[in-house]
Amino acid sequence: MTDTSSEVELTEIRDAFQLLANETRLSILYALWTRPTWEATFTELKTAVGMRDSGQFQYHLNQLMGTFIQRTDEGYTHLAGGIALYRTVLGTLGGPDDIPQLVLETPCLLCHGSLVLSYENQVFYARCESCGETVLSSPFFPAGVANRTDQELLMAFDTWSRRLIDLLQSGVCPWCASTISHDFERSGDSEEVLITHQCTRCEGFLTTHIGEVFLSDPAVISFFYLLGRDVTTAPYWSFEFCTDSDDVTVLSEDPWMVEQAIRYEGETIRLKLDETMDTTVADCSIDSLSNSSAWL
Ligand SMILES: [Zn+2]
Ligand SMILES: [Zn+2]
Repeated sequence: MTDTSSEVELTEIRDAFQLLANETRLSILYALWTRPTWEATFTELKTAVGMRDSGQFQYHLNQLMGTFIQRTDEGYTHLAGGIALYRTVLGTLGGPDDIPQLVLETPCLLCHGSLVLSYENQVFYARCESCGETVLSSPFFPAGVANRTDQELLMAFDTWSRRLIDLLQSGVCPWCASTISHDFERSGDSEEVLITHQCTRCEGFLTTHIGEVFLSDPAVISFFYLLGRDVTTAPYWSFEFCTDSDDVTVLSEDPWMVEQAIRYEGETIRLKLDETMDTTVADCSIDSLSNSSAWL
C-alpha cells in the first residue's frame, strides 16, 4: 500500500544530514558520484576512499544504505536522493551569484518603460525602470548562468520557468516530486488574483499569475498559432496575460473559479480555471477554435 502521508519527522531529516557529517561517508558518495555509471564494487570504493579496515568501511557503507546508496549485483550505486543531492550542490557551485543587468527587448506592459533583468543572490528579477513594477522573480541555479551568452541565458531562464510552472500546475513538485496544493488569493490593494503552488512535502512554492497556467494550454497555443505567433518560443514575460490580472474575472471564491480573457490582434479567447487547475474554453472569437470539440 502506498504511504500517502507527506509528513517527514524532523529527526529523519536531521539523521539524513547527520550521515553526511563524516569524511569517510562523504568520500564514499563522492567516489560513486564521479564514476561514469554511478556504480562501484566494495573493493573499488574502499580503494578510492583509501580505508584499510574492511569492518569500519562496511559500517560506513551500511550507514548510507537506504538513504543515499543501495546494493546492486556488482556492488553499490546511488539512490535517487543521492544523485539529487549531488546535482543540487553542483548546480549552486561554479557560477556567479550576480551578473550585470540586462535590458530586455520586451518593454514593460504596464507603462512601456524599459524592463531590466537582474540576477541577485541566485534569483532573477525583471523590473520596470520607469514604474518600478517587478513583473517576475524566480530562483535560478548559478550553473545555468555560467557559459551562456545573454540571449542563451534568457532562453534558458524562460524554458526553466515554463517547466517549473508546467510541473506545478500538473500537481508534481519540480524539486521533490511530491503533491502540490494550489491556493488562490487576492494580492494586496491591487486586487490581483494570484495562485501559490506549494509542495505538500518540501515546502517549495511558486506564485504565478492566472495567465501563466494557460501558457501550455493547447487552446491558447492554437489561438496564437492561428494568429501567427508562437507562444511556445517567445519569452513568457512578453505576454500581457502572464504578467497582470487585468483580464481576470473571479466567478466564484468558494470554490475558486476564474475566467481569463486573452487578447491578440483583435481576437479574444476566454478560458476558465478551477481550484484543481482544470481549464476549459469558455468562448473564442475565432470560429474554428470555438467550434472545436477538443476544448469542450
Ligand atoms: Zn512600467
Ligand atoms: Zn517538493
